[in-house]
Amino acid sequence: MTMEETITSDLSQFGGREIEEQRQILKAYYNGNVSQMFKDYFYDEKVEVMFNKMSGYVFLTDSEFNSAMNVSQDDQEPFLELHLNCSECGYEGTETEIAEDENYRCEHILEQYPDLKENGSFVKAKK
Ligand SMILES: [Zn+2]
Repeated sequence: MTMEETITSDLSQFGGREIEEQRQILKAYYNGNVSQMFKDYFYDEKVEVMFNKMSGYVFLTDSEFNSAMNVSQDDQEPFLELHLNCSECGYEGTETEIAEDENYRCEHILEQYPDLKENGSFVKAKK
């Protein structure tokens, strides 16, 4: 499978679960229910909802290939956080996942996104 086939914005390839997830993502995006990191880094250009058929993830992308995911639980209002990944060691996760990861070892993401350390959820969880 090539990348093109794996990741799609073609709604005909979305199933019921993915359509619902897309709905939640768009609701959060429209309502501005997003993290501070999202506000700081996500571009307001070429914004699309994408579905990764391999991982099952539905996420929002921008012109710079930032990606964001809905991290709310079932009954909560949808809320978007950036999904970060390190091109050097392959480490990845949402802001909360990284903040809560006790085995966190990648320093590159913190170098790239110092805010995650200074005023993001990262610090809150680490305290
Ligand atoms: Zn890394």
